[in-house]
Amino acid sequence: MLGNSVKVELPRRVVALYLLCSLIAFLWLVANAVSVTKSIVRSNTEGDLLAYIRHSATLTTIDLAKNGDAHLQALVERFSRERDLLFCAFVGHDDTYIAHSLKRRVGHTHQVDNGITTRHEEIEIVRYTSGSLKIREYRSPIQLDELAGRLIVAKTEPTIDDTLQVTSQHAFVVLCGPPLLIALFGFTLYRLVSPMAAIDTQLRQAAVAATVADLRLTPLQSRGPSVLGWNRIVREFQKENASTGLDQRLSEAVQSLRQGKSDDVLNSLTDGVAVSDQKGMITFANQAMAAMFASDSQPESLCGQDVASGLGLDAEEEVSSSLFDPDLFARHVVEELERGAGESKQFLRIARTPIRAAEGTSSSGHVWTVRDITQQKLADAMRDQFLDNATHELRTPLANIKAYAETLSLGDSLDVESQKEFCNTINIEATRLARFIDDLLSVSSMEAGSLTLNKQGVDLQRLFAEVISKIKPQMDQKQLEFETIFPAKYPQAKFDKDKLNVALVNLLGNAAKYTPHAGRVRFEVKTTNTQLRIEVEDTGVGISEEELPRICEKFFRSANPKVQAVTGTGLGLSMAHEIIKLHGGDLTIQSKLGEGTTFTATLPLE
Ligand code: ADP
Repeated sequence: MLGNSVKVELPRRVVALYLLCSLIAFLWLVANAVSVTKSIVRSNTEGDLLAYIRHSATLTTIDLAKNGDAHLQALVERFSRERDLLFCAFVGHDDTYIAHSLKRRVGHTHQVDNGITTRHEEIEIVRYTSGSLKIREYRSPIQLDELAGRLIVAKTEPTIDDTLQVTSQHAFVVLCGPPLLIALFGFTLYRLVSPMAAIDTQLRQAAVAATVADLRLTPLQSRGPSVLGWNRIVREFQKENASTGLDQRLSEAVQSLRQGKSDDVLNSLTDGVAVSDQKGMITFANQAMAAMFASDSQPESLCGQDVASGLGLDAEEEVSSSLFDPDLFARHVVEELERGAGESKQFLRIARTPIRAAEGTSSSGHVWTVRDITQQKLADAMRDQFLDNATHELRTPLANIKAYAETLSLGDSLDVESQKEFCNTINIEATRLARFIDDLLSVSSMEAGSLTLNKQGVDLQRLFAEVISKIKPQMDQKQLEFETIFPAKYPQAKFDKDKLNVALVNLLGNAAKYTPHAGRVRFEVKTTNTQLRIEVEDTGVGISEEELPRICEKFFRSANPKVQAVTGTGLGLSMAHEIIKLHGGDLTIQSKLGEGTTFTATLPLE
């Protein structure tokens, strides 16, 4: 249908229109030029005027014959109008005007001015001047049976002004025609071409659009087969684009959701995670990373920094670190770094992994993970110390037992007292060994969370007596003043007797261990209706304020050289604390470095 209506191609239609308009304009000009020339020539040609006068004279003769002078006035007025005459008149025998185009002259006498008279056949032509006017007067005799009068036609001589006037009368038509034609032609051409221009603009934009999805094609408002065709294409395109656009938006949404999700996941990690580009600039950092390194704890403030400064490394550290060795950029590198000093010392394990790039392309950056391993390091250090101490704890009593037993087995010469003393020492060392092994077992139960209580009615007096008997040899060995204060009467109580025994032996054992020779230890038990309060006070080495909060941690041992000089595992106190807590009680510690320590255990009575 479209093909049928668009028979002539656009360029040809435009050319045809152009030619048609040019032709019309040309014809217009020619026609007008001819008409103007004719007018000028006619107004200037005497022959033409003479012919007219003759024709007018004939008409006048016929009218006179028919109607007398009844129509003369109308006739002269008509002639004057027709030829734009100065005047036209009919003069009778007596030279008076019978009719005159200037009516007021009727009845006046026809003045014969002096002038140059010529004759053209029967018409007399008189040229004279009146004022500024040069006049030609034509006098044509009107004959009926005899001379009835004369038809006088007066015309001014044509001047340049007259010619111009005639020309100007036509000028409007001549000059306005072509512009009107051009305007009409322009309008038609505009109507024809403007939809093409709109289509052309959209096609140009399409040529530079990055993707088809970016194309914005719009239907046109005007009419015509080309516009109809264009609008149809646009509608099809929009339908197509709407579905692909939806797909694209959907995939973008999924992408950003994924991105957001992975950011959430990375931000919920406790390890610091950062991503650097090929130039070593941080492009992403998670919250944990920002908390460790950014002054304002905002991940954004790390982005854009180079990794070394982002991680707070100085130039020296950067040079010496394998993390920044260009030769290792394609490999996974892990390094531990120390930051700070003293109490605020931190250990960081930094791992750098190259981002696996698509096949055939080089690595596009690195992923950095930072883990704070300070606690792990401290635990490792304590465990190492524990192993040292444990070895010592096992070896010392064993060596003593072995030595005393050998001496006993060899010595017939030993008196009974010495033999008793040797046996006693072997007993003490064996008890120490057994206690250490008990401690180890209890700690492993604590670690496993399986340390449970076996509560039953306890004879507290007996319990304390057992504890003292276990600890007494240690007190005596160091010649400590050991003061015990017990209540007159004990309440009924339900405790795990063995575990409470272990806890108290540890507290008193520590008091004995960490109190210098000839010091003083006080063991006091107080009771109320609701609780049992046990105090172990010594005049020993004491505990510093900094170490006090950590004293009940597993494997913790004071850095005090006076403590380090004594062997220990760092387990006893944590175990005592755990046992008291399991009983629903509490262990508080008051200490002054170099002066002494007081442990207070409060246990609720059921
Ligand atoms: P250890 O085997 O080292 O004695 P504990 O767990 O019993 O282990 O004690 C932990 C640490 O607590 C000790 O190493 C010591 O530094 C400190 N400590 C415990 N009791 C006392 C005390 N009575 N006086 C001073 N320091 C003590």
